[in-house]
Amino acid sequence: MPSGGMGALEHKNSSVYFLPEVPFEDIAATVRDVCAHEFFHIVTPLNIHSEEIADFNFIVPNMSKHLWLYEGQTEYAAHHAQVKAGLISKEEFLLRMQGKIENSMNYYNDTVLTL
Ligand SMILES: [Zn+2]
Repeated sequence: MPSGGMGALEHKNSSVYFLPEVPFEDIAATVRDVCAHEFFHIVTPLNIHSEEIADFNFIVPNMSKHLWLYEGQTEYAAHHAQVKAGLISKEEFLLRMQGKIENSMNYYNDTVLTL
């Protein structure tokens, strides 16, 4: 049975996607969201990042204190670009941002230690 997991990983000149096998019309909006998100990772962390990311240790990874910047700014830009392009309404954008704020407050641990 499929795990239901999905995700993507940005690289310097490309991205890798792991998405469920469903008809495209059922996942088109998700693909658009994920592609926009991965695209804006060009800004951060690929170009703006802390030394932990610049010299990332894949053997003994250190969590960066700037994860909120990398993911938060990227996610904001990914959805804001869709408003600017007329793909989603301002109201939909605000609902999405509200949902992300609520999700972060309800499901994430703000006390995770970083170096
Ligand atoms: Zn990301």
